[in-house]
Amino acid sequence: MTKREKRQLIYDKFDGKCAYCGCDLNGKFHIDEIEPCRRKQKMIPAHWTNGNPTTENDTSTAFVTSRWVNDGFENPEAFRIENQNPSCASCNINKHSMSLEEFRKLIAGFMKHLNEINTQYKIAKRYGLVSETNEEVKFYFELYEEDRI
Ligand SMILES: [Zn+2]
Repeated sequence: MTKREKRQLIYDKFDGKCAYCGCDLNGKFHIDEIEPCRRKQKMIPAHWTNGNPTTENDTSTAFVTSRWVNDGFENPEAFRIENQNPSCASCNINKHSMSLEEFRKLIAGFMKHLNEINTQYKIAKRYGLVSETNEEVKFYFELYEEDRI
């Protein structure tokens, strides 16, 4: 299977909608790992020139230090299609490397945050422009799967 065919299979999982919020992807999407992949990193020596010699006669401006670089993944099995969802950029970036339950808690926490610190939100709510449902956060793919049963 080509990379393009694999992307298309993932895109088609929920009829071209984001697996999390359900928005139309319109052909543009990120691939999210449901159970996140965990990058491994390792420390390597790094060399660079800072351009600031310490003395007038110092022509050596190379410094040696160390830096972190990517070193593969702890769980490369995360990249199988069954563990990958089509996602809009916003959901993918916000979910980042969270599990589904961590992501659900993050979104639920947005309401608390709005009610605590966002004056415009609180005013809009007082004027009846916003009504809260207190519903549990459900991802589109969960509703999609319920509809199919
Ligand atoms: Zn989304």
